[in-house]
Amino acid sequence: MEHINCDVLVIGGGAAGNRAAYEAKKSHGELIVVLALNGKNGSSGSSAFVASESLGINAPFNYMNDGDNPDIYYSDIVKTGGGLADPKLCRIIADESCDRLKELMDLGVCFDSECGKPIQRKLSGCRKARSLTKGGSTGLEIVNALRKANKAVGVKVIENVRIVELLKDDAGEICGAFGYIGKNKVLFNTGSVILATGGAGRIFKKNVNPPSLEGDGWAMAYESGAKLVNMEFFQVGPAVVYPKINFIIHSHMWRFEPKLTNAKGEEFLQKYCPQGISVEDVIHAKAMSYPFSVRTVAKYVDIAIFKQIVNGNATENEGIYFDVTHVDGERFINQAPITYDTLMKAGIDLTRDKFELGLLVQNFNGGILIDENGFTGVDGLFAAGEVTGGVHGSDRPGGNNLTDTQVFGYRAGRAAAEYAASIKGREQCNIKIDADSLKDVDEKESKILKTASELYYKNMTIIRNSQGIQKVLNFISESMNKNNSLVLRNRLLVGKILALAILEREESRGTHYREDYPEIDQSWNKRIVLHKGLNGEPEILDKE
Ligand SMILES: Cc1cc2nc3c(=O)[nH]c(=O)nc-3n(C[C@H](O)[C@H](O)[C@H](O)COP(=O)(O)OP(=O)(O)OC[C@H]3O[C@@H](n4cnc5c(N)ncnc54)[C@H](O)[C@@H]3O)c2cc1C
Repeated sequence: MEHINCDVLVIGGGAAGNRAAYEAKKSHGELIVVLALNGKNGSSGSSAFVASESLGINAPFNYMNDGDNPDIYYSDIVKTGGGLADPKLCRIIADESCDRLKELMDLGVCFDSECGKPIQRKLSGCRKARSLTKGGSTGLEIVNALRKANKAVGVKVIENVRIVELLKDDAGEICGAFGYIGKNKVLFNTGSVILATGGAGRIFKKNVNPPSLEGDGWAMAYESGAKLVNMEFFQVGPAVVYPKINFIIHSHMWRFEPKLTNAKGEEFLQKYCPQGISVEDVIHAKAMSYPFSVRTVAKYVDIAIFKQIVNGNATENEGIYFDVTHVDGERFINQAPITYDTLMKAGIDLTRDKFELGLLVQNFNGGILIDENGFTGVDGLFAAGEVTGGVHGSDRPGGNNLTDTQVFGYRAGRAAAEYAASIKGREQCNIKIDADSLKDVDEKESKILKTASELYYKNMTIIRNSQGIQKVLNFISESMNKNNSLVLRNRLLVGKILALAILEREESRGTHYREDYPEIDQSWNKRIVLHKGLNGEPEILDKE
């Protein structure tokens, strides 16, 4: 087994991991900082995934002179979070985002601008125009600037490694990590770890995530004793399912007032709109609210589409038809040029052809509970970016995820380096690994992974109820045993944690819609926090 020694190990190479590594090395140049990621740096993770017309990142610069400022930004985050975001973390985002973005601009990130001034747009959950973009490549641009900066400061990058387990010493401090480079096993010996492994869309049959986002970070954190918060809240939204490309359909495309039909050719949307709310109302709202959320009437669009999928009225690709052939071609070129081009390259001319649209898992609002410095409560363990929870609540303003990666990547990087510097010289830990769990995923396990992804999608995305969640939990308990590979263990564990949080919250709020509890319930103005209990099972701590 290969051994690698370092002071700070950053796991994950998206916008959060690259930022954290950069700050760790910049603040403590004497430390060995390793950035280990599954994939290639610059093209892995959601950050570098180009799959939409525009990818926004928020900061209250007030470039559009609409009076934006950190206080308005703060109250937008708290309000959109449905009372479940941590106000301390929201305040930090609101106060520090402009500084972090200015530093990105100094590193060469060039946002879309007009007359030398960046353009800011108003996204869902924001009262002011606050989002900066570089078309659909904003995250890619950020990752590339940080990747170059990391090279310049001397961060060591190890690519194509999947880390599946964290290791602790006898004092309970994190001292290492275990993973695979291809079929080869690798052990890291480190002073501190920063988890920046992003979300877990790939554990669902239908998702719009790049490979490697399978939730290992949550499973590793949970096994190490960290807490997870707001796990029931994640984003599912409309995306192309045929042709087979990864692309989400948001704002501009809904302004074209599409005609939606199911596999039988029926226009189904009206049936799902309550009295007094028209098809035009919900489609108009959808243009302002990409992911499914019960916060706005746009929810009826997603519910109606999902009903077609589960009731057998969807296409074989689990989609419905999205038809904008009534729109003049010029409008596509002016208002949705990237979507238009992407579909054209895939053989769809929007002026003549309809395409198939489904509902795909996109992004996670909950995750590892952190404090203001990305500290998880487990000595030596820090986290930043989408893998964390508490920065966002039951929902989040559009454009806030990328901001989160920069603000908390910065803080976690510095704090983890400070910690590693303070324990430098500590004896290398005696790393023990349970040999049984080192096996590869075999054919039987592959089947379990596939069935899990189908069950998770059908029962834990748009429409949730206790019966469906119970099915998921039963399957997990039948499939879980101590001989599982670490990959399967992590997958089942993450499914179980999501299912328990979904089952516990008997109301509907933000991205969480319980068909059996469809209304918001103010007695649920509290967050569900989970950890590994003394009996080794997930335990819901007092709801905070
Ligand atoms: C289609 C789409 C559109 C979006 N639009 C917006 C938007 O407009 N605005 C916005 O703010 N947000 C948006 N988001 C969300 C945003 O892109 C993400 O929340 C953010 O980029 C996450 O960054 P991250 O660094 O935390 O994780 P990621 O960028 O996902 O990076 C995770 C990294 O961890 C690595 N990794 C994972 N598991 C392991 C493992 N076991 N071992 C080693 N490495 C591992 C991955 O390979 C990757 O390098 C969008 C997301 C998608 C998918």
